[in-house]
Amino acid sequence: MIYFILIALFAAAAAVIFFNLYKRANRSLLEMQAQVQEKTRELELQSGMASRAGIEKLSTDLIFDNLAEAVLTVNTNLELLRMNAAARTMFPVKSLPVSLLEATGLLELETSVKKAFTEIMPVKNRLNIFKNGRQYIYAAAIIPLDTAAGKAAAVILTDLTRLHRLEQVRKDFAANVSHELRTPIQLIKGYTETILEQKLEKDELLHSIEIILKNAQRMEHLTADLLTLVSLEDETNSRPDMAEANISGLVLEAIQAVYPLALAKKTQITESCPSDLKAVVYGPLIVVALINLLDNAVKYSPPSSRVKIKVSADETAKDKTGTVLVIKVSDEGIGIPGEYQERIFERFFRVDKARQRTGGSAEAGGTGLGLAIVRHIAMLHNGSIEVESHAGVGSCFTLKIPLN
Ligand code: ADP
Repeated sequence: MIYFILIALFAAAAAVIFFNLYKRANRSLLEMQAQVQEKTRELELQSGMASRAGIEKLSTDLIFDNLAEAVLTVNTNLELLRMNAAARTMFPVKSLPVSLLEATGLLELETSVKKAFTEIMPVKNRLNIFKNGRQYIYAAAIIPLDTAAGKAAAVILTDLTRLHRLEQVRKDFAANVSHELRTPIQLIKGYTETILEQKLEKDELLHSIEIILKNAQRMEHLTADLLTLVSLEDETNSRPDMAEANISGLVLEAIQAVYPLALAKKTQITESCPSDLKAVVYGPLIVVALINLLDNAVKYSPPSSRVKIKVSADETAKDKTGTVLVIKVSDEGIGIPGEYQERIFERFFRVDKARQRTGGSAEAGGTGLGLAIVRHIAMLHNGSIEVESHAGVGSCFTLKIPLN
């Protein structure tokens, strides 16, 4: 019996000891697990931070390199330390550091950087840079930096060339429009005053009214052309989608529009266009372009001459872009002297300004905007407009529109 009791006590003690041992072992296992988890979390956090820092650095580098502005950092010895991609394109250097003046050749910029270091203040100025025979305008901002690694300056160069050019175009445009309107307005005013103040003979009266009417029409054409040009230039302007059109239909529409003028001058217009030629184009705009070309061909030719319009699909276009729609409008008119051939596509450019602006003569005509409109329409189709002309012989305008 005692034997059994001893065995039972021994077993109970062993169980308690074993249980305690198990509990301790379990606790240390749990502690170890917790410690491992803690460490893992710590490591995860660290590596997370490391990758976050990496991502931040990567994005800063990406932003730095993809900025449209050229950004350079310069030390107090006036040496370039860092350049982004735009800066490297502007000032190609073999290696860094390199002297700011040597890399950029801009004494003005060096002076501004020195000033920023001396005054410890941002410096702003405008730089005129001449490259490959062209003038570029840049806004320079130099910001002095005082970092743990030492003093430096960030130079930010913003290209204002395009903005400047657009501003100039806008000013010229406004000046040209007012200049163009001034002549017809003055003529209308002058002749109206004469009618009101003087007793005119019937013939004189009719002549005055005719001039008033012609100048009113001139202003009407000018405003219509201006509206067309502005709507073509406005990239945000919604226009109907390109659609497949029968080209000979568009040609006939244009011929019909200039028919009254051709009839008055006894000009013979002939056309040749494959009747089944179809293309995806802005149909109504092609008609506008053709009307302008045909109208000029008739206007700048003597009476009873011939004007031709010839359309073809050129499969073997030189530029290898695929099929090109080629429309040629040729005349036997006064022609365009070589020195003006580049300029006739500019807004308001006319070869014979004196004749065009007198307003009183029967030939008083164009707005000087027709070919600018044609060029815009060509550009909208990724195409081109070219001229071949000989003074006194005639002109041939070629409108090319890629179809693929
Ligand atoms: P405009 O309204 O004066 O005709 P355009 O822009 O259509 O304006 O043409 C610009 C200038 O180009 C004309 O003023 C004229 O001097 C010249 N020009 C255009 N087409 C012809 C042509 N077929 N023959 C001769 N000169 C032309």
